[in-house]
Amino acid sequence: MADCIFCKIAKKEIPSTVVYEDEQVIAFKDLEPQAPVHVLVIPKKHVESVLALQAEDKELMGHILCEVMPKLAKDLGVDAKGFRVVVNTGEDGNQTVKHLHFHLLGGRSMQWPPG
Ligand code: AMP
Ligand code: ZN
Repeated sequence: MADCIFCKIAKKEIPSTVVYEDEQVIAFKDLEPQAPVHVLVIPKKHVESVLALQAEDKELMGHILCEVMPKLAKDLGVDAKGFRVVVNTGEDGNQTVKHLHFHLLGGRSMQWPPG
């Protein structure tokens, strides 16, 4: 999508610190980290949010959650103590970038409930 900042990151049209990449997925460091480890995992194809996912995206979502996320947690050293995966969605979810992204946060103890 032309005006989407995360599509531009996926296409390397704007810089980011990439920590993982494959054909379908890219993960990069959040610009304003909220924890010692804070990366964003996104599908390279533009999907606006969880609400825009289609049945055909099941494999891609399974890949992100079942394969990419645990690999990243291990590679980033947060698997032993734990971490949080967050998907902000829509206005009340405080989603600011309208390209589906999974926050992986770790390296400190998290609070509950989130603000
Ligand atoms: P959300 O509020 O869930 O939509 O999260 C958007 C996230 O994207 C925020 O944590 C921002 O800090 C992050 N962000 C925005 N622009 C960039 C960028 N160019 N590179 C890395 N992270 C970004
Ligand atoms: Zn996009």
